[in-house]
Amino acid sequence: MKFNTKTIHGGQEHDPAYGSVMPPIYQTSTYAQTTPGGHKGYEYSRTHNPTRNALENALASIENGKFGLAFGSGLAAIDAVMKLLKPGDEVISTNDLYGGSYRLFTKIYQDFGIKFHFIGMQNADKIADYVNANTKLIWVETPTNPMMNIIDIKAVAAISKANNLILAVDNTFATPYLQQPLDLGADIVMHSATKYLGGHSDVVMGALVAKDETIAEQLYFVQNASGAVCGPQDSFLVLRGIKTLHVRMQRHCENGKAVAHYLNNHPKIENVYWPGFENHPNHDVAKSQMSDFGGMISFTTKGNNMADAISIVEKLKVFTLAESLGGVESLCGHPASMTHASIPKEEREKTGVVDSLIRLSVGIEDEADLISDLEQAIG
Ligand SMILES: *Cc1c(COP(=O)(O)O)cnc(C)c1O
Repeated sequence: MKFNTKTIHGGQEHDPAYGSVMPPIYQTSTYAQTTPGGHKGYEYSRTHNPTRNALENALASIENGKFGLAFGSGLAAIDAVMKLLKPGDEVISTNDLYGGSYRLFTKIYQDFGIKFHFIGMQNADKIADYVNANTKLIWVETPTNPMMNIIDIKAVAAISKANNLILAVDNTFATPYLQQPLDLGADIVMHSATKYLGGHSDVVMGALVAKDETIAEQLYFVQNASGAVCGPQDSFLVLRGIKTLHVRMQRHCENGKAVAHYLNNHPKIENVYWPGFENHPNHDVAKSQMSDFGGMISFTTKGNNMADAISIVEKLKVFTLAESLGGVESLCGHPASMTHASIPKEEREKTGVVDSLIRLSVGIEDEADLISDLEQAIG
């Protein structure tokens, strides 16, 4: 089955009770048993719920994995991966990553005795320098948030395999429409399904997909034992979102390309970060591991003035100033004061998150309206 068919049919069966085409929202915590242990595969909804299972099967299918798991948020999904570790274990992570992931790693798991190495991974060979007998996990985000750096998943996977590590890839920005990390050698794919998978800015959810049964079993154990699951209503919404993922992504990519080129030619704009530019440092890797370049773009203004950036995001009208990304509507954000405020200024500037940086999540509105909105805001 091709991707554009999998988004609609992958892992799905019509409901056996009445043949409903979409799975019903099984809004129940528990399931009747005829005799102790005599049930139809469902005992309690933290462990299993038919609506969540339908979503989990869809997730596994679109990521070319075998096992899907849905959680109450993207961070709950990342938290479940971290629970595969023990005190003393070490993690090598992308340095330019989602602020909430950085906060979870440094403010919670570091205190539990996990050691993190945050490094630039644009040159994957550097990773090997940080591998030792305690290393267990490599955490990759690509494209990175918000600098749009590209990490070579295949190259990282080779290092991970050679050292018997687990490679987890946060695929939130790319989505499986653009990039399929399991096919490139990753062990776990993670999503903030809040973003493109849900696609309509109406639900908070996280997801994991794995190929290997041993890893999947450990993750299912954590999912049930820690219990950070999502509800059936939210499962239904994200399953519905996935059915249009390919159509939405195609337009996100078209609009993203138009906006990136417009900004690149604007006299008041200093840098535009978008992997589709030929002079992007890892454009070749992006071209080989992604099928297109997506709708996420960051840029800085000349003079690198915080006030200029804030004035632009306040003036934008079609682009809503809001955290989050990946919905049908265009959003803009100011990472230094919003999503990345929890990363110390010195740390964030090292990775390029300077005061004038603005991040756009280009939606699926008409391209001309997006460009004229930027025109009136930037001046
Ligand atoms: C939003 C986001 C997360 C966290 O997901 P939540 O659903 O907000 O918990 C993790 N990684 C990336 C890249 C994100 O954009």
